[in-house]
Amino acid sequence: MDPSTPEIETLRKMIDKSRNIVFFGGAGMSTESGIPDFRSAHGLYRQAEGKTYEEMLSIRFFLNQPATFWAFYRDIMLHPDAKPNAGHYALARLERQGKLKAILTQNIDGLHQDAGSQRVFELHGSVRRNLCLACGKVMGLDPVLGQQGVPKCECGGTLRPDIVFYGEPLDATVMDEAIRAVMKCDLLIVGGTSLTVYPAAGLLGYRREAKLVLINRDETPFDQRADLVVRDNLAAVLDAAVPQ
Ligand code: ZN
Repeated sequence: MDPSTPEIETLRKMIDKSRNIVFFGGAGMSTESGIPDFRSAHGLYRQAEGKTYEEMLSIRFFLNQPATFWAFYRDIMLHPDAKPNAGHYALARLERQGKLKAILTQNIDGLHQDAGSQRVFELHGSVRRNLCLACGKVMGLDPVLGQQGVPKCECGGTLRPDIVFYGEPLDATVMDEAIRAVMKCDLLIVGGTSLTVYPAAGLLGYRREAKLVLINRDETPFDQRADLVVRDNLAAVLDAAVPQ
């Protein structure tokens, strides 16, 4: 993108002046990596199933119909070949430059870590971790990719992904750290989220004196309160605004 637009120039200056930046990202962060935003993409998961994504991703559905859940999950939620995009790399760069102190993400794809980011708070968990319901063993993604159907632990127990299902609370420790990061920051950059999904809106409430930048294609309920709104491609904006 043209790195000389007034918005990019403003964002660059804001980044330059800041010492404690926090980035908070949603599904739009990963669309450039080929991971569709399942919420905005389709209303129902396959007409035949007649279920919404929220129902498919609920703890009740997982426990009642693990085979159907895992088929859905493998089909829609797992993208083992996805690679970080220019936006992920720009944020990793900003962390190495000592300015970015934390990434808060609603995504479960692990792409920030792939890009080299260290301090990443995954509010909704990660597809990269899986737990045995029987013995509690924590595993990576390999046991899931290496099996078909409902993946099992060596002990015979059923695996669940370490993601936050609908109907489950967020991890309190992760949320505490995320809130603390937001309270301490002097610049909060929010990107790729409509800010309508819990806990996004709540987290923004912990921002004190920090400047707020919103980068999103569509309007959000927070646009009026932002110091800068950039309506453009998130990956391109971050790449252009973060110094090489
Ligand atoms: Zn086990």
